[in-house]
Amino acid sequence: MTRGLRRRIFNSAGGFTLIELLITVLILAILVGIVVMTMNLAKGKAEETTCKANLRIAEGAINDYYADHHGVYPNPPGATPEEKAENLLDQLANDRYIKNAPRCPSGGQYQYFGEQDIRCSISSHNI
Ligand SMILES: [Zn+2]
Repeated sequence: MTRGLRRRIFNSAGGFTLIELLITVLILAILVGIVVMTMNLAKGKAEETTCKANLRIAEGAINDYYADHHGVYPNPPGATPEEKAENLLDQLANDRYIKNAPRCPSGGQYQYFGEQDIRCSISSHNI
């Protein structure tokens, strides 16, 4: 590329060509994309870890309920596993087996299938 073909953004001798600026912007855009992608992955992993911790706490509360009620697991009302889980977690919170009824931070639904079997609707969140 001859000097005459170069488009100068600035008239001074230290200015950048349009191509140099475009390459710089492109590299910055790629770096920002990588950072955003990494942060989204980290956020998803943190939510998964929180959800698994919620399920472990719920399992522990179910075990405490089982021990306090002479070998009887909770039998919450509800037509679907999601309703049963919501009622179960509210009941365990009301009975002070857990401080608050946990919710999945990613928007998943907890499902209760009886005994100790409580899961998240997001399969990767299950323990
Ligand atoms: Zn979840």
